[in-house]
Amino acid sequence: MKISIQGLSKIYGNGKTALSDINLEIENGMFGLLGPNGAGKSSLMRILVTIMKASSGTVNVNGYDLTKNRKEIRKMLGYLPQDFRFFTKLKTWEFLDYAAALSGIKNKKERLTKVDEWLEKVGLFDSRERQANNLSGGMKRRLGIAQALIGSPKIIVVDEPTTGLDPEERIRFRNILSELSQQDVIIILSTHIVGDISSVCQNLALLDDGRMQFNGSPEELIKMAKGHVWQVNTSGTEYDILKNKYAVISTIPSDEGWEVQLVGKDIEAKQAIEIEPNLEHAYVYFMEYLSNH
Ligand code: ADP
Repeated sequence: MKISIQGLSKIYGNGKTALSDINLEIENGMFGLLGPNGAGKSSLMRILVTIMKASSGTVNVNGYDLTKNRKEIRKMLGYLPQDFRFFTKLKTWEFLDYAAALSGIKNKKERLTKVDEWLEKVGLFDSRERQANNLSGGMKRRLGIAQALIGSPKIIVVDEPTTGLDPEERIRFRNILSELSQQDVIIILSTHIVGDISSVCQNLALLDDGRMQFNGSPEELIKMAKGHVWQVNTSGTEYDILKNKYAVISTIPSDEGWEVQLVGKDIEAKQAIEIEPNLEHAYVYFMEYLSNH
């Protein structure tokens, strides 16, 4: 699978530019789309899943043009929006059966087998007779996951993957996705939470203010922050000065006061020890010092 995005822009009716000249190639595996709120992630996702039109530019999916071949592309898509809502009186299993039918599985027996399989995978088998809209928030999110994946999509788009899931459910969802990512499939995770993508995505793009600021592997981004992340044991007034001058990543109480992790171009502090950056440090460093926003 391959998605090629060229010169993509989106200007809303009110004149707001949400995306400016995005160029991006996405291939098989997990891809992270990272950026703060308002960066343009949802706008890009909505265009990719064909529910919104771009103002200019092109998107090509395996040779199909997004605007000319919407039908073909929709068949390949599974989308889990951030606030997955449904207004239905259907039972949980009936809702999934409906989603499976929409995704093109015509044979009833095949559909019911798939429905049971997915109810099992997302831990809703025991709730299959319950009315879908009476499920708890976390259960609805899991039903959302199942409806997005039941048709064996080739392109899976997930907006804010951890929203509404407890830690155990997050792990389960992550495992389902990493299993799927071994196949001829593209999985796009769009999020403002670095932890959602750190261990799982081979490639990522950073969006800020509608512009793509970085496109590459997590390791490449981390390399850029090397030499700019520090740990300092501090207390009292020095801590206040550091806090105002640098981006504080974490503060842990210590014998001397605080053990603080900082990101900055150069650090002027007593006893500052340079530490190896992780993706979260790298993201903060990039946004503070390299993003031209
Ligand atoms: P993200 O998903 O990264 O939070 P969005 O794509 O939702 O970003 O939004 C990007 C920008 O476009 C924001 O400034 C947002 O306020 C604006 N925006 C989003 N949707 C609309 C809309 N329907 N009309 C006007 N502006 C919008």
